[in-house]
Amino acid sequence: MQVLKFGGSSVADATRMSQVIDIVQAAVARDRTILVSSAISGCTDALIAIGQEQDPAARAQQIDALRSRHHGIARRLFTGVERDAMIAELDGLFEELSAAPAEACVTFGELFSTRILARKFACEDVPTKWLDSRQLVRTLGGVVAEGLTYANILSAVTAAPEVRLFVAPGFIASDGDGRVTTLGRGGSDYSAALFAAGAKASALEIWTDVPGMMTANPKVVPAAVSIPDISYKAALTLAENGAKVLYAPTVKPAMEAGIAFSIKNTFDPKHPGTLVSGRPAVKAGEWMGVTSLKHADKGESVVCLVGESIPSRASAAVRILAALSEAGIQPLGEVTGEGDAFFIRVRPTVENAAVGAIHREFFEARAVTVIPVFIAGYGAVGHELVRLVGLSADRIAARRGRSIRIIGLANSRRFTVDLRGIRPEEADARLEAGENAAGGAFVDAVLACAPRGAVFVDCTNDERLHERYAELFRGGLNIVTSNRRSLALPFVQYAALKAEARQNGAFFRYDTTVGNSLPILESIASDANCSDGIEAIEAVVSCTLNYIITGYDGAKRDSLATLLRRAQDEGLTEADPRTDLGGKDVLRKLLILAREAGVPLEADDVEITPMLGPEFFGCPLDEFYAKLAEYEPKFVALEAELDAVDERRRFVASLRRDPAARHGYRAEIKMQRFGPDSPFYWISGTENVTLVRSEYSAPLVIKGAGEGVRLAATGIIKDILM
Ligand code: ASP
Ligand code: MG
Repeated sequence: MQVLKFGGSSVADATRMSQVIDIVQAAVARDRTILVSSAISGCTDALIAIGQEQDPAARAQQIDALRSRHHGIARRLFTGVERDAMIAELDGLFEELSAAPAEACVTFGELFSTRILARKFACEDVPTKWLDSRQLVRTLGGVVAEGLTYANILSAVTAAPEVRLFVAPGFIASDGDGRVTTLGRGGSDYSAALFAAGAKASALEIWTDVPGMMTANPKVVPAAVSIPDISYKAALTLAENGAKVLYAPTVKPAMEAGIAFSIKNTFDPKHPGTLVSGRPAVKAGEWMGVTSLKHADKGESVVCLVGESIPSRASAAVRILAALSEAGIQPLGEVTGEGDAFFIRVRPTVENAAVGAIHREFFEARAVTVIPVFIAGYGAVGHELVRLVGLSADRIAARRGRSIRIIGLANSRRFTVDLRGIRPEEADARLEAGENAAGGAFVDAVLACAPRGAVFVDCTNDERLHERYAELFRGGLNIVTSNRRSLALPFVQYAALKAEARQNGAFFRYDTTVGNSLPILESIASDANCSDGIEAIEAVVSCTLNYIITGYDGAKRDSLATLLRRAQDEGLTEADPRTDLGGKDVLRKLLILAREAGVPLEADDVEITPMLGPEFFGCPLDEFYAKLAEYEPKFVALEAELDAVDERRRFVASLRRDPAARHGYRAEIKMQRFGPDSPFYWISGTENVTLVRSEYSAPLVIKGAGEGVRLAATGIIKDILM
């Protein structure tokens, strides 16, 4: 058994009744059904007016108007003898109405509507029976006698097993003396819940003219959305505090009988609406809705916010007050309530504004701007970048109002482009199935389709990709790169790229090229810009060397070669680790650092003294490792000597003001010794330390983990979102 209830606007006229008939016929095909209906819209108000009308002529006129509305429906729904019979039946009821005592008038509306519906279904050959709710739903002392009512309903439906569809008027009942009465305005919902509980129904559907319960009254808050799932308790609180979509007493019978009920939209039957149940599919801490009620007597309105399993009342209260204050609304007291319900009193003139402000704060995600991103390079960093974008998308959207959409991806062999977005979990497969990337095909594809504001990320080690940066800028793309090779170019080329970006209104960010996500470049740039230039930069930024030097324990555990091989395995070094040992990679970093400080340094301005002599460099890798083993005792001796004087060696890139040098700065990369008074002494693992001395401010030390794909990927995301 199931119960379907239709509200007044769902049965307002013949057209709407036809929609109801379709919905109910589909329901009857599934299961035996009780249809509970309200009076046609406006009817109950009209009947109240009729009951109060003293002037007999006026009263007769009002009854006539109501009669002709119902006649109109009957004429549209029925033909021939059925139409005549329907009109005769209605006329009989209207005669009763004319003679009825004032207080009984209001109870006729549901009789009219349900007699029409019952006859219509009978005509459609549905085995139908009209039930007289006045005999079944009984009140005592103004409240429903539930036990008696349930027993009446159950015996009524079991007594007629041949019936597929029972049609029952909502709203009306009779009291202990057998006099007809009502369940209160909006009471048809309650009737439906009583029928459901009494008939032990497995489902209850309340059909109305909005898509279920909504996060706010959509007439007050256009951004309100329907609530898919809600608990009995939260639904009850909303209903009791102003949500007109549900008559509050409805909840109790359904809850006690354990019947989950849905609230659905007659005009959009496919919309899932709202499911009210004991175990709603909601996360703890989720917000359900905001309602308000005017208390005219007290000259105030109470706004009510309801959630499910709210973990902290205090922080919710703070947000409510902040939202109101942001909207310039002064509340009339503190936030009150208990459990998951929050109440705040405001002046009636600002009631709607307060509801809107609280709705904005708790229900409206700030507008999210989508940043389309193409990623060149799907090695360790690229993979991590794609993974992190997937993991943190929601959080970034919530906090920054922006979301990253990956729309293109390439490695050295293949590429794929999809403007609708490539989901991180399908990236591998999409790329494998992608197109041939040879001959710069990826950049060609990017240029052909890039949407406005798109970002091109270069996380390759490609020596030549930068040759296409200018084209990308001209094509309207922004560029984020972690590829040092794209920046460690001759200064004129570097400057030309930056100019190209500027001229095209694009951004060009490469903060990860030195120290990954550490804020080194941005600090230098801002220091350099607000002083008379940088005095000195000293940077220990070779993670390979840091790894070896800080990890070395005099060959007790690991030899130099072992450490170096491990660094290589962990992806810390370049393909040939000697690129790092020889200072080539540090050189790139120093060029980038210096240029950020406004010094147009060139590679050959830098004096490099590698940690190892020239004999280590020209030879094949195997030979190199053999030589390294031979060299080890010397290295051990040197370490011992340093230990004795409590000093440590670091591979430092430095830029120092020197009027005699070209560009006014002297640039060096070499091993240097430091005592415990220097921050360079205290480096562990792959940590980076950069020291910036500027004219006015005290030395700035930027220290932190500098290496690893995770940090590189994080830094790139920072650059994209900056
Ligand atoms: N017709 C009644 C009213 O307008 C009951 C209902 O619609 O639920 O209050
Ligand atoms: Mg109603």
